[in-house]
Amino acid sequence: MTAKLLDGKEVAAAVKAEVASRVEGLGYQPGLATVLVGDDPASHSYVRGKHRDAAEVGIRSIHRELDSSVGQDELFGVVKELNDDDEVDGILVQLPLPEPLDGEATVERIDPVKDVDGLHPFNLGQLVLDRPGLRPCTPGGVMRILDHYGIPTAGKRAVVVGRSFLVGRPLALMLSARGADATVSVAHSRTADLAGMARSADILVAAVGVPRLITAEYIQPGATVIDVGINRVDERLVGDVAFDEVAEVAGAITPVPGGVGPMTRAMLLENTVRAAVARRS
Ligand code: NAD
Repeated sequence: MTAKLLDGKEVAAAVKAEVASRVEGLGYQPGLATVLVGDDPASHSYVRGKHRDAAEVGIRSIHRELDSSVGQDELFGVVKELNDDDEVDGILVQLPLPEPLDGEATVERIDPVKDVDGLHPFNLGQLVLDRPGLRPCTPGGVMRILDHYGIPTAGKRAVVVGRSFLVGRPLALMLSARGADATVSVAHSRTADLAGMARSADILVAAVGVPRLITAEYIQPGATVIDVGINRVDERLVGDVAFDEVAEVAGAITPVPGGVGPMTRAMLLENTVRAAVARRS
């Protein structure tokens, strides 16, 4: 492997240490509430991880677990209760919700100042307008990795593969925002000549959900490659990037696991402290 490894665990540890020290100086314990519906094992494991992380940095967890038979109105009621609870600084509704519950409508009920996932239309709107606000955790984590390793973005050509509202779209906005100043293209399932477009990138981000879609022929020699994908293949987690071959061409690369995943969790903690400070000051 010739590429430099961009270690998300290392960056996440730095973010968590920063958050822990900010929490210590606050004089109160910020509260993070999670809402978990149904019995999907992956969702349960994600939420457990979020509570563990919160405890590590001194953030109090509040947990609401609901049966998958819960009605939409009852779920809205739980969100309202958390909106009104002064001890709750951040609210996270674990997505996806079981059918027929509407995830987007539920997120829209969260008070935007407590929207620590940064997915409320208000916060996404703030991002479009290049104004301060809570940013979505995964794209926020990607930006932090680039910053931590001193990878320049200004004037660079970035290609983001994937246009989801969770990752690709907000990340494209963050990369092109003032301060980051990259020139960004967004590719998706209908993009013609994806390999050619990807090869033009100084920074290539894969947020697709197709195991090992991005192979060495997609990479400009020396490019930075960020793999957001998390795919389960034969009981193993693999990214959207064919790591071994791409690492021979790229200049820097994130692994899966241990890349963007830990950053998503760390940025949730940072957002919780931000929300607490914004609400309580
Ligand atoms: P999504 O399914 O909402 O969006 C996938 C995007 O990829 C779509 O815009 C689609 O147009 C595009 N796409 C699909 N097939 C393509 C192809 N062959 N070529 C080019 N583009 C194609 O997914 P998402 O929520 O954005 O997640 C993407 C991946 O990132 C998944 O593997 C998911 O598990 C992972 N993820 C990881 C984290 C993390 O913390 N690391 C967080 C969120 C999502």
